[in-house]
Amino acid sequence: MRYLGAHISAEGGVENAPVNAKEINASAFAFFTKNQRRWESSPLSDKNIALFKENCAKYGYFPEQILPHDGYLINLGHPDPESLEKSRKAFIDEMQRAEQLGLTLLNFHPGSHLNAISVDECLRRISESINISLEKTKGVTAVIENTAGQGSNLGFSFAHLAQIIDKVEDKSRLGICIDTCHTYSAGYDIKTEVGYLQTWQKFDEIVGAKYLKAIHLNDTKKEFGSRVDRHENIGLGFLGKEVFIRMMRDSRFEKIPIILETPDTTKWAEEIKWLMQY
Ligand SMILES: [Zn+2]
Ligand SMILES: [Zn+2]
Repeated sequence: MRYLGAHISAEGGVENAPVNAKEINASAFAFFTKNQRRWESSPLSDKNIALFKENCAKYGYFPEQILPHDGYLINLGHPDPESLEKSRKAFIDEMQRAEQLGLTLLNFHPGSHLNAISVDECLRRISESINISLEKTKGVTAVIENTAGQGSNLGFSFAHLAQIIDKVEDKSRLGICIDTCHTYSAGYDIKTEVGYLQTWQKFDEIVGAKYLKAIHLNDTKKEFGSRVDRHENIGLGFLGKEVFIRMMRDSRFEKIPIILETPDTTKWAEEIKWLMQY
């Protein structure tokens, strides 16, 4: 069973997310539980929560098919103590929102050193942020996404992910989301068959296959190893179609959310249909 969908809009309330997902025939979805570009957001109301759960039940979405994403302002490895504190507070709020909605996963980007602290120190702070957040919540797994390595963003190499995991105390509530665009931009050649096999083998050796909890399925507007994060619709970018067919046939990605974050949202229903035939 494939859980395939897209990062859909929750405009007007989180309860609209499952409705919008159903409209494109998705069997999984991602969404923001608050405005992703602002620090403050009003809490979820009892009505929001009840309607969200009702709509998920109505359309057959279970927690393992739903991957909320945290806001863009959060940097769990921030070099400045005050900003780090602010990010941690906002992240705990994100975890609690997921918990309130009865969800079990929260997807986030690890963090950036902003050229002010070392890579090791930044990774250590990220692990500490995860420890603090896991301690304050229950039932939600923190799902770290690999990045393209743009700017001073960490988490583009599998070694970074392993280093973060190493210092997390409760590893049972920790997972990884692999974004195909980011992976290719970071210099892992998943496009060729050999590169694909080698990349997943490396992932298993360095990080551990058991941590894989989600996939972001995106083509890329940038060439191999660019370290630039620019998504493209499936088959229209540098990755092409083959890798996505290979992924849909790969049993490793059964029963985990596979999420499109491709820029032309009008193509989602078509992309899902095309991918599902494999
Ligand atoms: Zn992504
Ligand atoms: Zn991206």
